[in-house]
Amino acid sequence: MIKAVRGTRDLLPPDTALWNLVEQAAHEVFRLYNFREIRTPIFEQTQLFARSVGEETDIVSKEMFTWEDGGRAASEKAQSLTLRPEATAGIVRAYIEHDLNRSGLLQRLYMIGPMFRRERPQKGRYRQFFQIDAEVIGPPTAGSESPSVDAELLEMLAHYLERIGITGWTLELNSVGCANDRPKYNEALRAALAKDLDKMCEDCRRRAVTNPLRVLDCKVPEDQPIIEKLPRMLDYLDESCRQHFQAVQELLTAVGVPYVINARLVRGLDYYTRTAFEFTHGALGAQNAILGGGRYDGLSESLGGPKAPGIGFAIGEDRLVLALSRTAEALSKPPDAYLAPLGTGTNREAAKLARELRRQGVVVELGDESFRLKKSLETASKIGARYAVIVGENEVKADTFALKNLATGEQVAVPRAELAHGIRR
Ligand code: AMP
Repeated sequence: MIKAVRGTRDLLPPDTALWNLVEQAAHEVFRLYNFREIRTPIFEQTQLFARSVGEETDIVSKEMFTWEDGGRAASEKAQSLTLRPEATAGIVRAYIEHDLNRSGLLQRLYMIGPMFRRERPQKGRYRQFFQIDAEVIGPPTAGSESPSVDAELLEMLAHYLERIGITGWTLELNSVGCANDRPKYNEALRAALAKDLDKMCEDCRRRAVTNPLRVLDCKVPEDQPIIEKLPRMLDYLDESCRQHFQAVQELLTAVGVPYVINARLVRGLDYYTRTAFEFTHGALGAQNAILGGGRYDGLSESLGGPKAPGIGFAIGEDRLVLALSRTAEALSKPPDAYLAPLGTGTNREAAKLARELRRQGVVVELGDESFRLKKSLETASKIGARYAVIVGENEVKADTFALKNLATGEQVAVPRAELAHGIRR
């Protein structure tokens, strides 16, 4: 038997109702903040992710689904392609490619779709997973660097979570500095790491050389006491980063969005500058981050684009659904009516009636004339329909149908023109 690939999974009804709920709420809540939807391709040139997410990150160094694409036509060149492991890189590429900077305005963009990382699968961690991603990006003259953009985005997230009924989250906040202060911090980190490095895991030893900030992200238990004592980025912020971070916090306090500072929060992608954040949730166990994001003031330029600072987040939809207290059963809506054709030739009449009822907004499941009445009524009950409509030869002749309330067993004859009304009542 052929099974779904390890780390991928099928989302079946009724669970898909939960996915629709969180996606619909995203469309509605983001709209209130004037976000508009963007859709980028599921695969891109490998280089895009290597240059933005960063060669030294787990994502790029070991988790990407990458292949050499031969290019079948003579006009196509062979190239290295990758299934997108995250959304921001593709959105910023599109921003540059379509010269969205030209408007001089802030672009508030969002996207919902699958991402791909070859991670070790476990609860809340998959190889194909879904993100709800949003970005605010634009030229500095449009205010894209303002701390109010950061605070507004975080407030939007709090609003969104409230809307879908997720409580008990924690907003963890940090500033990871910028190109100006990061080198000094990296130097301090390397110096502090030097004496303990031989006691640390292999990844940390490598990162200490290539990208010391990544050491803070290490999850190996034995390394934690060493990491706890390392210098904090917050103590190395230059004056403008410090003021920026301060302003973000003041705005959050003003609008009543609670947060905690987590000086170790660095996120798994290299492009972040200044504000970095995660929303965690206690109900999720080891994979407790429902969403994460941050600022990326230099990303557009590093991809050859204009100066276009931005900030964004990605909500892990799989984990969001796990954190919902609603159950799929409570959301799933059974059909209003089951149409039971009765007798040879009644399928046609039932199909016509179903078409009319659906045009009046009635949710109809259609039976088959080969079923006996008993089987039709049993099916109607099993699917949870409120009514069964019997479409027999006599009913068709009289243009009046037997409407059976499946909860009470009560049955009445209803003229065709009044049927939709009778069912919706
Ligand atoms: P990141 O793109 O790594 O910043 O992750 C943003 C959010 O996506 C995380 O907080 C998770 O909720 C979710 N996420 C990341 N990787 C996975 C995965 N492999 N499986 C499920 N969700 C994920």
